[in-house]
Amino acid sequence: VSTDWASLIEPLASGPRENGTAQLEHALLFIETQLKASGLAVTSFEYSGHPYRLRIAGLLALVGGSSFAWLLHKKKTPWALLILVITAGSLVLDFDYGLSLFSSVGAVQERHVLALVPSAQPVQSRLIFSSHVDTKTDLFDHVQRAPLDVATPILLLFMFLGCALKVLRKAAMLSGLTLGLGLFLTLSAGAFLNQRSHGAIDSGAGCMVLLELAQTIGRSPLQHTEVQFVFFSGEEVGIEGSEAWLRSAPLPLKTRVLNLDGVGASASLAFLRAERYTARGYLPDETLVEALSAAHEKINHHPIHRTWYPASTDARAFLSHRIPAVTVASDLPEHEIQRGLHSSQDQSSRISAAALEATTEILLETARQLDAAQ
Ligand SMILES: [Zn+2]
Repeated sequence: VSTDWASLIEPLASGPRENGTAQLEHALLFIETQLKASGLAVTSFEYSGHPYRLRIAGLLALVGGSSFAWLLHKKKTPWALLILVITAGSLVLDFDYGLSLFSSVGAVQERHVLALVPSAQPVQSRLIFSSHVDTKTDLFDHVQRAPLDVATPILLLFMFLGCALKVLRKAAMLSGLTLGLGLFLTLSAGAFLNQRSHGAIDSGAGCMVLLELAQTIGRSPLQHTEVQFVFFSGEEVGIEGSEAWLRSAPLPLKTRVLNLDGVGASASLAFLRAERYTARGYLPDETLVEALSAAHEKINHHPIHRTWYPASTDARAFLSHRIPAVTVASDLPEHEIQRGLHSSQDQSSRISAAALEATTEILLETARQLDAAQ
């Protein structure tokens, strides 16, 4: 591999590409042009996206949490309980099933860009390489928001118990205010920040690797595996883009998915140990993990790292539709967690050409192994 990575940095990792903005469409157009220049057949998938979905959810949590506390303070316990059930219930329905009372607010037409490379011999299966093009900016990164993630079930428990037990009423009020404000700051406050994330590691670098893979596999297709490249939008708003695609585009063949999210910072790779919703979770596919591990061992001469933490990526949408998938990210020295994602720190200076090259080679080797194994 000897790619002019620098030429991909400007269009894919040097500015925000937020859902519903012209910058995102600009990046998608660039990807389209690159794929066509590689001689590939390019298509689009259009869907109705909701760029403000999480911002609205945070606002709903703030209003719900403070109303709950106020009603409890006024000793209107049944009303407090009702508000609690409605707020918590509608947030879980929104996050886990895409059913929102406010789902039509600020809806815009969005799209993914896709390309397919047919197999050289009669096709037996499909391998999807995916990454997301869109970015977002939040007040907190994944580490800063972790305490709230951990505390949420405990706060909710206090809120429910406080409706039944007088002695816990104060604690319940405080829990409601804390959770409401915490979710507002986590989900909504990023809308007001001036410095936006350039989404270099999350996940412009993944898109760069995908373009390189598309060019290479386009030149020499796999034997019995057709390879599809999917550039998703709508990932940073609760994985709604990939969910929309999977709902309306049933995949006919035996399909497997290698999703890239957080690559480009290191030549060593990791895979995410699990993909989670609020109330359920999925494990990555074992066959994919084995092929990835073997390829990683071959190119890097040490095992691929399994993260100790779960995450929510586009692989989650595939797994919830029973399609084998795994998400690959960079493994930093000492297995450190990538900080400052969804913030202005996620800049192109974090991307290294060596990391992009190694990632491309490992994924190419993985694809060839999966193809040869059938
Ligand atoms: Zn991402």
